[in-house]
Amino acid sequence: MTLSLQGMGMTSLRTRERMIKRLSEQGVQNKRVLEIMRDTPRHIFMDEALSSRAYEDTALPIGYNQTISQPYIVAKMTELLLEASGRLGNVLEIGTGCGYQTAILAQLVDHVYSVERILPLQRKAKSHLWDLKLKNISFYYGDGNLGWPDYAPFDGILASAAPAEVPLQLLEQLAIGGVMVIPIGLSGDQVLQRVTRTIDGYDIEKLETVTFVPFLSGKE
Ligand code: SAH
Repeated sequence: MTLSLQGMGMTSLRTRERMIKRLSEQGVQNKRVLEIMRDTPRHIFMDEALSSRAYEDTALPIGYNQTISQPYIVAKMTELLLEASGRLGNVLEIGTGCGYQTAILAQLVDHVYSVERILPLQRKAKSHLWDLKLKNISFYYGDGNLGWPDYAPFDGILASAAPAEVPLQLLEQLAIGGVMVIPIGLSGDQVLQRVTRTIDGYDIEKLETVTFVPFLSGKE
């Protein structure tokens, strides 16, 4: 898929290529994920004042006390989601934020259902994703603790905020054979986990230490 917006200057393809090289040095192996991150402009998801830093491997503020996830985390979580299942049908994302992770997912799976609890962030994300002409995304303004039962079960669930433990409703909305990638734990003590639903339960892999904003309750 060719995206409609190309970057300029510091935000050019060359800058993105450097980001991709760094991601592979950090251990990201999935070629499709790397290609799509190379071709997706990340700077359009942030305020202009920060756009020259868009390709640094760091989380950056997007307002409302939230951050855009660092490129390594976006790549790693996407890779973990795809690794287990190959092609994914429908994926539930909790925490749309600025919409960058949504954009990456939408180019790799059939449909993304994305839930966000802060309305102005959701509005901005929608407009960026519209600019990129990504249409296989549905947005829901609500509390991700409840998932999105109307479209369950999901082949994949990806959360970009960390709850203390996996919300029950998300476990219930995972298809058998489906995979959830989610950071778990309180601030300063979080681990990225992959939960796979089997016929008789859930397998849990604890992967690496991470830093995410907290998974909150209710809407703002
Ligand atoms: N992938 C996003 C991450 C944004 S930060 C990006 O790169 O921009 C995490 C996001 O999760 C925030 O936008 C926050 O508002 C949202 N969030 C936290 N708890 C949530 C919940 N219970 N339901 C829905 N969204 C939630």
